[in-house]
Amino acid sequence: MQNTEKLYENDSLLKECCAKVLACNKKANDYEIVLDRTVIFPEGGGQSSDKGWINDALVTHAAEKDGQVFHYCNAALAVGSEVLVKLDWAERLDHMQQHCGEHLLSYAFWKLFGANNIGFHMNEQSVFVDLDKGVSPEEVMQAEDFVNAEIWEDKPINISYISSDDLSEREMRKKNENIKGILRIVSIEHGDSCTCCGTHPPATGMVGIIRVIGADRHRGGMRIEFVCGRRALLDARRKHEAISATNALLSVKPEEVPTAVRKLKEELAEITARLKNKTLELYQLRKDSLAANASRDNDGRRIVLVSEEDCTAKDAKLFAQVLTADEEKLTAGIFYRVGERINYIFMSSEGGRDCKLLCQTVNQLLSGKGGGNAAFAQGSAAYCSDWGKIIKSLSEL
Ligand SMILES: [Zn+2]
Repeated sequence: MQNTEKLYENDSLLKECCAKVLACNKKANDYEIVLDRTVIFPEGGGQSSDKGWINDALVTHAAEKDGQVFHYCNAALAVGSEVLVKLDWAERLDHMQQHCGEHLLSYAFWKLFGANNIGFHMNEQSVFVDLDKGVSPEEVMQAEDFVNAEIWEDKPINISYISSDDLSEREMRKKNENIKGILRIVSIEHGDSCTCCGTHPPATGMVGIIRVIGADRHRGGMRIEFVCGRRALLDARRKHEAISATNALLSVKPEEVPTAVRKLKEELAEITARLKNKTLELYQLRKDSLAANASRDNDGRRIVLVSEEDCTAKDAKLFAQVLTADEEKLTAGIFYRVGERINYIFMSSEGGRDCKLLCQTVNQLLSGKGGGNAAFAQGSAAYCSDWGKIIKSLSEL
């Protein structure tokens, strides 16, 4: 079968073309269609596959094999028929903006700081490039400025073909020495040059803008997260909405949000510390009568069971610590409700009851789950209205 003429290789702005169906094979979930020519770019060179339509059939994915482009469609097409191939242009433009942005950013880190791109991936929202060495926040900003200058100069992007034998003489950022034969070189005027089979805009201006939105240490190098073109606009919009909502809540100007949040956090920490002290005082006041009224078993062991209305996991632990502190043979069991769950913890001082066994008993009574060790155990069960009675029956056991 003849090769597919790849119109996207020489004209990345071509949005549709007429073509002839060379083959149509039924696959498990779709139809695999080969055309004599196409505007749909199959995945390759780190760029995702285009989507589009062949007549009314939806092309969800395309892949290249041995010079032919296989279009995966939701409907069959008659072999030999003339068809109209259309590209999902909005998505192609997005792919080209991110892909070309990656060329430019990789070039900037390589040229300015000698850092090489060793990995790349893209999700729905952003793009990631892995560098083989660390770069400072200032250097990241310099690279971002450099790329935006390249974009705003609207430099021509040229495609050329050379023989792999001539590759060693070319000065380029990225060379694939393993590929033999004719190589496709993508060059930005007075800028980046590398081997690539992807689609690129005719000039850098179409990338629009680049924004680096993350830079983290990663495997001895850096992982840089960025967005280009429309994604940068959407990212700015999302963040603007978030900051607008926040500064409205805080009644401050956007640039005053960090100071206002810091102040709130300090106030919250102070209130939390005060509340903890007050709670501790309250628990210490309640401890004496609870410990004094607890009955002893034959071994002199006491158990204090409390059901708390207003309690958090931290409070429950604090109460159990207060109840068992400086005591011998005393076990504290705290029950408290959070939403539709009943939670319980057990804590024993020296010589007290086995908390793990107590927890298992409660698990059975309340159909709950949980465990721990002899000194501490915790569990929870679904809320039931007569949980108070069940706790009472436990104290009688
Ligand atoms: Zn490329």
